[in-house]
Amino acid sequence: MTYDFQHLSKEDALSLLNLPDEELPELLEAVYSIRKKYKGNTVSIQLLTNARSGNCSQNCAYCAQSQESKAHIDKYRLVAYEKLLKDGYTVTDKNLARHCIGLSGIRFQNSEINEFADEIRKLKKETQSPICCSIGFLTPEQAKILKEAGVERINHNLNTSRRFYPNICTTHTYEERISNIKMLQSMGFEICCGGIAGLGEEKQDIVDMLFDIQAIHPQAVPINFFIPIEGTALEKMDTSYLSAEYCLKVLCLARLLNPSSDIRCAAGREVYLKGKEKWMFYAVDSIFASGYLTADGQAIEDTIQLITDAGFEYFVEP
Ligand code: SF4
Repeated sequence: MTYDFQHLSKEDALSLLNLPDEELPELLEAVYSIRKKYKGNTVSIQLLTNARSGNCSQNCAYCAQSQESKAHIDKYRLVAYEKLLKDGYTVTDKNLARHCIGLSGIRFQNSEINEFADEIRKLKKETQSPICCSIGFLTPEQAKILKEAGVERINHNLNTSRRFYPNICTTHTYEERISNIKMLQSMGFEICCGGIAGLGEEKQDIVDMLFDIQAIHPQAVPINFFIPIEGTALEKMDTSYLSAEYCLKVLCLARLLNPSSDIRCAAGREVYLKGKEKWMFYAVDSIFASGYLTADGQAIEDTIQLITDAGFEYFVEP
């Protein structure tokens, strides 16, 4: 394998995704040395709270919360503060790395942001946990309110490539996502920015998306492997191309292009990488426990066990 991992071209990246599976162990070893340099042998765990669920105005084809979804999910405007606090205490009690809080929707009224910011302020006072919010397109004024309330990081996934974006969403654009991220960065927010493999895209779309993510320099890069949800537009998507080997190549590429970022394997790890977690951790230093926005996941204790069984160290906040 003759790649200059520090200066990968898009052609190199595509050929890595096309690498014969027999050559994957060699790639994983090379990626592991980079992961070890920047992240040691540790894996951090994040907990996700779905603070607003369903009734979204957008039509993201993969999402159970979209306006077109008929998926059976809980729908609520703002989760009870008690639930937010309970999850916040779980983050501190279990020494998890971060409390991630997602809200469905793309644009919010100032009054809604103020109401949410009050909850964040209370939560921060109680738990002091690092917080990342996924909260649509904020205005600069709204972002300032949340920053002052204690939010350090915002999640904005690109989800797929610029080319493929209209295939998965037509109610907002890829460019709007990029420009909102740039605005947030200029205000001093850390950025969590990743994507989804398995939406029917080409490998080139994964390459293009990962290069666009690299240009953003996010602190965290969550990579999801798509699990079709009944009742959504993509419920019948054939994801058979998401072999464990292919998923590992995607994660390796995410690490190579963002060597010092947290590379997080998000939704889908329990399905597509089951039994291969040791190899996943050669690229990945961060995972969720206890589920995703509208899907269940592995419990926290089992996730900690998974990390140690794989020969890695569970990262405990100092
Ligand atoms: S991904 Fe976000 S913006 Fe898109 S439909 Fe789901 S909740 Fe709405």
